[in-house]
Amino acid sequence: MHPESLGGLAAMAGLLGLCVGSFLNVVIHRLPKMMEQEWHAQCAELRGEMASTVAEPLSLAKPRSRCPACGHQITAIENIPLISYLFILRGKCSGCHTRISPRYPIIEAVTGLLSAYVAWHFGPTLQAAGGLVLVWALIALAAIDLDTQLLPDSITLPLLWLGLALNLWGAYVDLPSAVVGAMLGYLALWGVFWLFKLATGKEGMGYGDFKLLAALGAWLGWQMLPAIILLSSVVGAVVGITLIVATRHGRNVPIPFGPYLAAAGGITLFWGESITRSYLGLLG
Ligand SMILES: [Zn+2]
Repeated sequence: MHPESLGGLAAMAGLLGLCVGSFLNVVIHRLPKMMEQEWHAQCAELRGEMASTVAEPLSLAKPRSRCPACGHQITAIENIPLISYLFILRGKCSGCHTRISPRYPIIEAVTGLLSAYVAWHFGPTLQAAGGLVLVWALIALAAIDLDTQLLPDSITLPLLWLGLALNLWGAYVDLPSAVVGAMLGYLALWGVFWLFKLATGKEGMGYGDFKLLAALGAWLGWQMLPAIILLSSVVGAVVGITLIVATRHGRNVPIPFGPYLAAAGGITLFWGESITRSYLGLLG
């Protein structure tokens, strides 16, 4: 593709990414709360109580976003990705002037930039369309895991199936590699989990991590699993040690593994083949 039209495609994907990033902020904020509401309802049902009827059950579409401090409803002009935060609100709620976390525009900017890069990297292909969805899901999962130490099934499982479906057409790998990738991805971390538990009596990671690696295996094939595990462990170790040293963060405070898996999955989506080739080269 001509570099100029590729640039145009990347710019369009970047703008789309900014808007999706704004939606991801809602997902990151609300999905864990929606799961909690559901658990409470299920527990009430098990205890034989009438499910308490919540006045306004939370969903991704309703109610409209409000300032958590004063309840001011976010207007359309205050909801433009990035622009509103930087130029209209200047980082503060227009109702009560409470500072708004810079995390919102950061998520929007990161989603926009990565979306542009997906389009630039893959061009106008099925890989690019799938890659956008994968990157968006990984951003949401990483942020939710950081906040709550949860990787919701409602994201990891559809992601796994979508990876398998795209590879029906060989979008990233052939179908057998994808199926084996999903199986081995789950089993690899499940094995690590039990070894760690038998050795230390502690649970080092959650089932959500297994499902996320299974999903990445379904997208990228079993051949990429060693690279994903290696990358996430290295990045996780470096960040973990830095945190312990810099903040005297207790060594027993759990550090979620999901964000590292998500980052490694993204890196492998773009550069997995060259990474695999270079370490296979090192082995001879
Ligand atoms: Zn406010």
